[in-house]
Amino acid sequence: MPVEPFPLVQAHGDHRQAGRQIGEALRPQIQRYMSSLPDSLPAGVTWEGMLDQSRLYLAPARAAYPQYTAELEGIAEGAGVAFERVFLSHCEELWEPAVWARGCTDLVARGRATVDGSTLVAHTNDLRASVEDDLVILQVQAGDEPEFLGVSVAGLGYSAGFNAAGISMTGNELANNDIRPGVPRLLVVRAILAARRLGEALDACLLPQRASSYNNVIADAHGEVYSMEGSATDCEPIYIEDDLLAHANHYASPAMRRFEADRNDIGSSVYRHNRARRLLQENRGRLSPELFQALLADHAGYPASICKHGLESVTVFSLILNLNERRAWIGRGRPCQTAYHEYTLAPWTPPEDWPS
Ligand SMILES: [Zn+2]
Repeated sequence: MPVEPFPLVQAHGDHRQAGRQIGEALRPQIQRYMSSLPDSLPAGVTWEGMLDQSRLYLAPARAAYPQYTAELEGIAEGAGVAFERVFLSHCEELWEPAVWARGCTDLVARGRATVDGSTLVAHTNDLRASVEDDLVILQVQAGDEPEFLGVSVAGLGYSAGFNAAGISMTGNELANNDIRPGVPRLLVVRAILAARRLGEALDACLLPQRASSYNNVIADAHGEVYSMEGSATDCEPIYIEDDLLAHANHYASPAMRRFEADRNDIGSSVYRHNRARRLLQENRGRLSPELFQALLADHAGYPASICKHGLESVTVFSLILNLNERRAWIGRGRPCQTAYHEYTLAPWTPPEDWPS
C-alpha cells in the first residue's frame, strides 16, 4: 500500500482571510476536533473553567500578536465554531499534562557535517496515534510575511515547518514548571514561521509575555542553528556545536534544569537525545536527506526509539528540510513504514527597502 501524503491546504491574503480559508477547507476536521476536546479535560476542571482561564491568555495574545489572533478569528469563522473554543484549543498550557503526550526528536547538521554543505533539519513528531488522521499541511502566505509550509493538527496550530526566507521551526515539547497566563506558545511558533531572518525568530522565542515555551529549534540557510531551550520566564539559546545539534524533550542545559517539571520523568528523552547525537556524529560528512530518512527510522531502544512505536505517543509524522533549497520531505506515520513526499517553496524576495 502506498503511503498517502497529508491533505494540503493553501491560504493567502490578509491574516483574517487566510484564517478563514483554512477554516473553510478544514471545517469537518476542526468541528470534529473541537467536539472531542471536552473529553480531554484535565482532572477536576470543567469546560467553563477552561474557558475562564483561557480569557487570561487572550489579552496578552491580542497585544503581542493581533495578526495571529485575527488568523484564529478567521479560522473560527470559516469553520463555523466559536472563536473562544478555537483560542482555547491554542492554549496548550491549560491542557497539561496528559492530553498531548508529546515527544519529538530533532537532528540538525550544517556545513562540513552534510554531504554538500547544505543546512539540513530532521524532525520526528510524536503524539497520540489517533492524531495522525487529523494532520494536514498548510501552505500559507499571510499579509506581507514570507510564505510558509507547516504541519498542523486539523489546522489548529503548527507542529513544524519552514518558510520561503529559509527559516525552519521544529523542536520539542518541554515540561515547564513555571507556566503562567500569557501568550500561548503555539502563537510564538506561528511567529517563528513568519521570520524573515533568524534574529526575528530568536526574538519570537524570547517574547517576554510568553505563557510557556517549547524547545524551539530554529535554523536558517546560512547554517545558523539554535535550540531555544525555554520556559515561561527564562531561555537558554543553545548554539549548534561542531556543525551538529540534537534535542529531545528534556532540558539539556544545566541553566534550565530547574524548570523541569519532573526530573525523574526524562529517561526516554535522554535516551533519544543521546542516540540522535551519536547517529549524527557517526555520519558526519555524509549526512543527506536520504540518509536522514534512514536515521529517523532508528529502532534502538524500541518501542521508545527515535522512530517511536506503540507507547502513549507514537511518531505521527516526520520531516526533513533542506533550507538552502527551500525543500521539505514529509512522511506520514512511523518513519520506518512511510514514504516521503516532497514540497518546495519559491525563495522569498526581500522588499526594496530591506536593509542589506
Ligand atoms: Zn519504526
